[in-house]
Amino acid sequence: MSRAWNFVAGPAGLPEEVLHRAQEAIWDIGMGAGILEVSHRSAFFDQLMYDLEAQFRRIGGIPDDYDVLFLQGGATLQFCQIPAELTHPGDHIDCIHTGFWTRNAMRDAAFYVPIHYAYDGAATGFEHIPSDDEIHYSENPRYVYYCANNSFMGTEWQHAPKTDYPIVADMSSNIYSRPIDVRAHSLIFASAQKNLGIAGCCVVIVRHDFLEACQPDPRPSMFNYRRLVENRSMLNTPPTFALYMMKQMLDWIEEHGGLEGMAAINRQKAAIIRDAIDDTHGFFRHVGEPQCRSMMNISFRTASKELDDAFIEGAEAHNMLGLRGHRETGGLRASVFNAFPIEGCRALAEYIREFARVRG
Ligand SMILES: *Cc1c(COP(=O)(O)O)cnc(C)c1O
Repeated sequence: MSRAWNFVAGPAGLPEEVLHRAQEAIWDIGMGAGILEVSHRSAFFDQLMYDLEAQFRRIGGIPDDYDVLFLQGGATLQFCQIPAELTHPGDHIDCIHTGFWTRNAMRDAAFYVPIHYAYDGAATGFEHIPSDDEIHYSENPRYVYYCANNSFMGTEWQHAPKTDYPIVADMSSNIYSRPIDVRAHSLIFASAQKNLGIAGCCVVIVRHDFLEACQPDPRPSMFNYRRLVENRSMLNTPPTFALYMMKQMLDWIEEHGGLEGMAAINRQKAAIIRDAIDDTHGFFRHVGEPQCRSMMNISFRTASKELDDAFIEGAEAHNMLGLRGHRETGGLRASVFNAFPIEGCRALAEYIREFARVRG
């Protein structure tokens, strides 16, 4: 059976080369054992972690005054770990609320710290990303929180918000899909299973001085960024296979021109699908205002749920998977993360035009 075009929102598809390398590595990584069977305290794995961090820093241009951590618990654990560790009694934080993921993050942050909403996108149905003059910060928040790509709605920030307060960003669904302005942020986190490999690992990029603001009180090891930094993310057994897979994805990203290369191809991929939607003259409609649309998650819909369902049903016959919108929004969504091939975007574009012709 041939592999389908997989538009799933995550865990995402992987490049074929990476899958083949993984197949071999599961059997034997050249030491008579496979990658699933090797100790994280072995020389092999220690080297892998050094290489992984060095390569991650090189690709993203991460400055020396930032630490890079590879943690477990996904992006969702960071929703509570960040406020639990980085806020003090009496602090509050600001949130720029742009949908499902900022809502979930704030639901967990609220256990630790009061939240001021500097912008609330609910009024525009989350189809809008605010410009800087639409954001109203409070006085002295410990940090400002935003989500760089709203995979759920299909909207994306084009640049970080402009403020002198420390900024914390959830980049789970667009990290390394294009160059990032690390310096604009005090902390960036991203789970790996969309653009950087498979589920099981979450990257945290954090500036030293922001970490220094950690509460000094004693705390359990796993809730102690400083201890995690000192132990190079290997305080306990790390998700060894997920880390190995991230290394393979980083190799693949570098082989394809690094973040500039990713941006160029990702821009083309999104444009191929967006143009096809435009060509249907309103039969399909984009979700998200033009300047706010995501390059990773193309959200769109027809005029009715029946047509959306028929589109998804027909997609299977065209060897396409994962086009159903988020369970809360309905509609259609094509997720085209780094590993998704451009040929699949062309195939979807053709199907969009054909469907509109036949059903329109
Ligand atoms: C997928 C996603 C998450 C959730 O990540 P987990 O690893 O499942 O916790 C969080 N934020 C954004 C923006 C996402 O796209």
